Amino acid sequence: MLFWSTRGKSDMKSAAHVIKEGLAPDGGLFVPKNFPFIHMDEIMRMANKSYAECVASILQLFLTDFSREELMECTEAAYSEAKFGEDPAPLRHVMERTDVLELWHGPTLAFKDMALQLLPHLMIKSQKKTGSGEKIVILAATSGDTGKAALDGFADVEDTDIMVFYPTDGVSDIQKLQMTTQAGGNVSVFGIKGNFDDAQRGVKEIFGNGEMAEKLAGKGFCFSSANSINWGRLVPQITYYFTSYAKAVVKGSIKEGDPVIFSVPTGNFGDILAAYYAKKMGLPVKRLICASNSNNVITEFINTGMYDARRELLKTESPSMDILVSSNLERLLYDVTGGDAAQVAAWMKELSEKGFYEVDSATEAAIQEVFFGAWVDELETEETIGRIWNDYGYVLDPHTAVAWRAAEKYRFLSGDETYCITVSTASPYKFNDSVLEALENEDELKEKTFSNPFEAVRELNKLTDWEIPQALLQLEKAAVLHREIIAAEDMPEVVLRELGIE
Ligand SMILES: *Cc1c(COP(=O)(O)O)cnc(C)c1O
Repeated sequence: MLFWSTRGKSDMKSAAHVIKEGLAPDGGLFVPKNFPFIHMDEIMRMANKSYAECVASILQLFLTDFSREELMECTEAAYSEAKFGEDPAPLRHVMERTDVLELWHGPTLAFKDMALQLLPHLMIKSQKKTGSGEKIVILAATSGDTGKAALDGFADVEDTDIMVFYPTDGVSDIQKLQMTTQAGGNVSVFGIKGNFDDAQRGVKEIFGNGEMAEKLAGKGFCFSSANSINWGRLVPQITYYFTSYAKAVVKGSIKEGDPVIFSVPTGNFGDILAAYYAKKMGLPVKRLICASNSNNVITEFINTGMYDARRELLKTESPSMDILVSSNLERLLYDVTGGDAAQVAAWMKELSEKGFYEVDSATEAAIQEVFFGAWVDELETEETIGRIWNDYGYVLDPHTAVAWRAAEKYRFLSGDETYCITVSTASPYKFNDSVLEALENEDELKEKTFSNPFEAVRELNKLTDWEIPQALLQLEKAAVLHREIIAAEDMPEVVLRELGIE
């Protein structure tokens, strides 16, 4: 299978090249030439396979320059029991016609692990296949979870360097500690004076900077990306939509062939795009609920066809969704326009020059046929966490609560009672302060002051009796190793400095 760019100005490339390079040279995103179809009996067979096998069988369809053995080596190393426990993607029953797909059983307690534990393995193999022998420099902009998951995945991986940039005031205490305590001879972590979009723009600019690329090549380095713009990160995420469907059938929540709805807490549009691809590949998905927080650019876009990023980025209790420019939407536009790269490039140009673009009515209608957009404010998020705990004894983290509430809005507005899987992207322990606030009676909470996030962790444990993840207990004892905070404009300079390039 070959891949080309959403902006149409790049050669067709094999998966190994695409994974190594991350972003297409014309600034677009790599997309596969076509999408394979998976039959229902094949979907159902996934119920009896290990998660590593299921991921390998999805990868095999796209990464045709890798052998089955190579893919199994990668997936077995990535989704080991030591890292993810018995089941990396369990489906929990919460309420009638509603289950939760928990994607946070990996080492960093957020769903990014589902792809980022695998990506380093794919990248090393891609590097060997493409035969150029450079050292790969991974640059990652993060709104919190990608940074840690990428650091954890790439730390001390041979022939790689990893540099992570996070907005200093835009991540939770636990997220910050997870990143600043990261050990490993090949890791660097920087706080950015700015927000996630500043960090992401900085990384994209470095990727597009020909002069820097030349300097690096001269010293035997090449850049790659661990953000969800990398196809190697997107493709493993298709898997859990299939496996959760098979599980729902086995549990009797639905019958084979029945339609389902997924509600996905959305930021950079990677997770929900994987669901869209799963639908394209034959999964009976009736509707995808695209859930946003108060940074509701995508909700507006789905409802009106106008993508307008000209606004302040708001800080919310679901920081991993605090994004105004969702990169992966470009892949959706490419798909719904039937691969009209010139049109996609024109919209993206408008977005970067004017801060907005508006799609034609046919494109708008095609998107609305599959996606339902809803956004959820801070108060509703808190209310939802408290209510679902009281009614069902289930603890939602703020990101998952946004998706849960969005699904409720969909049901209310559409009257559609189809079975729904809400995708849960983080452990409630990762955002313990917001969760506690939602669970505790305000007066009780006012009497308590926590001198560090770990006291709040123990309080949450006392209240819910949910087990504290091991990784969190270890974090309490870890030393802070990375303290540098830089201006977003200085990112290129800092990257060169870290690599020892003049
Ligand atoms: C990254 C992230 C999201 C958003 O996922 P996208 O693929 O960027 O849309 C939602 N929730 C959590 C906890 C995340 O870490």
